[in-house]
Amino acid sequence: MDYYELLGVDRSADTAEIKKAYRKLAIKYHPDRNPDNPEAAEKFKDISKAYEILSDDEKRSLYDQYGEDAFKAGGMGGGGGSDPFDIFSSFFGGGNPFESFFGGGNQRNSPNAPQDGNDLRYRLEIKFEDAVNGMDKTIEFHRMAACPTCNGSGCAEGSKNVTCRRCGGRGQVGVSQGFFTVMHTCPECNGRGVVPEKKCHACGGKGQTQVQRKVAIHIPPGVDTGNRLRVAGEGEPGLRGGQNGDLYVEIEVAEHELFQRDGCDIYCEVPIDFPTAALGGKIQVPTVCGKTDLEIPPGTQTGDKFTLREKGMPSLRGGRRGNHYVSVFVEVPRGLKPEQKDLLRKYAETFASSATRTEEHPKYASFWDKAKEFLGLD
Ligand SMILES: [Zn+2]
Ligand SMILES: [Zn+2]
Repeated sequence: MDYYELLGVDRSADTAEIKKAYRKLAIKYHPDRNPDNPEAAEKFKDISKAYEILSDDEKRSLYDQYGEDAFKAGGMGGGGGSDPFDIFSSFFGGGNPFESFFGGGNQRNSPNAPQDGNDLRYRLEIKFEDAVNGMDKTIEFHRMAACPTCNGSGCAEGSKNVTCRRCGGRGQVGVSQGFFTVMHTCPECNGRGVVPEKKCHACGGKGQTQVQRKVAIHIPPGVDTGNRLRVAGEGEPGLRGGQNGDLYVEIEVAEHELFQRDGCDIYCEVPIDFPTAALGGKIQVPTVCGKTDLEIPPGTQTGDKFTLREKGMPSLRGGRRGNHYVSVFVEVPRGLKPEQKDLLRKYAETFASSATRTEEHPKYASFWDKAKEFLGLD
């Protein structure tokens, strides 16, 4: 399709002309003015797309050079080939100059069409340990549901629903605004198109009441903050036969004092004592897989890192586990007993003149080589 043709403008049209042409067509084909008309909806999407391209100097120039291909995925335009619905929503999101024409951009096609219920969000904070092992949990929350007294009809016993007089059953009422009629949800029937002859006492005629729900969910091992679990059908109820929304449980994993997490990898700082650092030895470290042996080589320094392969978090997608990274630091002892101090002094004396013999302390030696050079000393 040719975007210029679609908007009915010359290839030389300026931005103002394009905008004017688009506005005229957008009003004509807007879904609010064409309920139950998929062709109009299609046309509306096409002209919106055309306008998106031609109203942007950069995109228009690409289009002029390469045509529509410039905006296909992987094409010259890069990123221009977005889903038409994205464009649709970007037009009727914030800051859209046409929004006021359409009464808030209500995109429902028909007032009597089934309307799906809204999704619900539930934030669930779990302990680090529970993210490691997974858990079963029952969450409790409130949501709207069809009123059990009237089975959702909104009618008192023995009465029935009748067509709403205010909107004539359309569920929407028109409000004149300039030369447009803007449609609003009928305040009398809340868009249902019908009202009860006599209202159900339990729900006041709304057909819905708040209910407490208990839902059992399984949290798989390896979940992380930001993961969402979907529980189908546990959102707000739909209207006029529409489907229930879904419940999204958003997981937040509490921090742990010992373990830092990055995806499936775990980082942990482990203190070791001076003799182990100097002589080497086997230590035990905690991991999410339990206690694990770690071989410390002689001469280990603070900050030295070790990797325990596949001792990290399990992968949600069933791949291999993450790694466990240990960073050690040498803890200098405090409050030594007299005999321990004696032993340490004897140890220090084994270094002929000072504790700086280069063979055992290469960093100390190289530091002072550079320091002397800086200070101009020999
Ligand atoms: Zn009721
Ligand atoms: Zn009504």
